[in-house]
Amino acid sequence: MNRKTFLKSLAILPLTAAAMKLNELNRITAPLGKTSKIPVLFLGHGSPMNAIEENEFVTGFRNIAKGIPKPNAILCISAHWETKGTFVTAMQNPPTIHDFGGFPKALFDVQYPAPGSPDLAKETKSLITKTEIGLDNKWGLDHGAWSVIKHLYPNADIPVIQMSIDYSQGPQYHYELAQQIKSLREKGVLVIGSGNIVHNLGKVEWRRLNETFGYDWAMEANGKIKKFILDGNHKELINFRSHGKAFDLAIPTPEHYLPLIYSIALKDNKDEISIFNDKAVAGSLTMTSVKIG
Ligand code: ZN
Repeated sequence: MNRKTFLKSLAILPLTAAAMKLNELNRITAPLGKTSKIPVLFLGHGSPMNAIEENEFVTGFRNIAKGIPKPNAILCISAHWETKGTFVTAMQNPPTIHDFGGFPKALFDVQYPAPGSPDLAKETKSLITKTEIGLDNKWGLDHGAWSVIKHLYPNADIPVIQMSIDYSQGPQYHYELAQQIKSLREKGVLVIGSGNIVHNLGKVEWRRLNETFGYDWAMEANGKIKKFILDGNHKELINFRSHGKAFDLAIPTPEHYLPLIYSIALKDNKDEISIFNDKAVAGSLTMTSVKIG
């Protein structure tokens, strides 16, 4: 339908429906108009069970969303989507992916029916010159995205796209790539990195998954990383492999840490930083999350 026929169709609708259609029209014609700069988040997602449990971390996610203007769209970099090359989801209706095993049926029953945004996918692709971004129509929303976004926006009324992590690239590359999408913050796009700062599944005490405690090395690495974040010391965050044993234990593989690199790369000098959900669970996971701006 073109704009003229669209407007004509409004005339035959009752008033409230017409108003709704107009909102729709505004979304279609100005999906990514200029807005005040929106914050960036890094969310420690932890166990997929956080999607359906009530706990202090879930409360933390809800509270942080209350302090952010409602975004036009969300772009999520999740630890759980690694690819060769970088892709963005470009489908109109991303399926909810249950990318885990051994959890209760209630978790597999969760659906997060947020729409996608082919427009945002195309815009993201056009902003990034560092590499050719692929438009993906097969992925959807993995639990790194929906298990946390559902607490921020339970109505699933904000379009969400995901951007994958190229497993063949190092942290400096990811930092530079992320910097190229900085301008999305001024278009009402909430960028969320979803991972965990400390994430060592091999050392998790599975029977104590609901207990908040961290091993010494986990707390050491988490503390140092927090200080680097607060000091704006991005160089040391990028060079996470040069900080010794505690870091090596905290970050045995990079995929849960790299979403943090995406988030900090979008920081401006004037942005304030707040840390929340700053606790360890089951010894070797930290839920520490960051709001930038
Ligand atoms: Zn995860």
